[in-house]
Amino acid sequence: MRVTLDDDICRGHGVCAAICPTVFTIADGGYAEVTIADVPADLATSVRDAADNCPEHAIHITDVSEENHVH
Ligand code: SF4
Repeated sequence: MRVTLDDDICRGHGVCAAICPTVFTIADGGYAEVTIADVPADLATSVRDAADNCPEHAIHITDVSEENHVH
């Protein structure tokens, strides 16, 4: 699963960083930043939670299940 954040939409409320500080931080400019774009499975629920609770809907999640194909 991948996570991206739309800087133009983010208003820096910090909800995401409060819910999942491992993946989201508030940068010096006051807006959120994704620190781990390739979300480990154990953080997936927390990242989904952050996306659901972002007041601006600035967090986008992409499921990359095709990467789990058998070689
Ligand atoms: S919760 Fe949304 S608007 Fe607030 S800092 Fe995080 S990404 Fe930005």
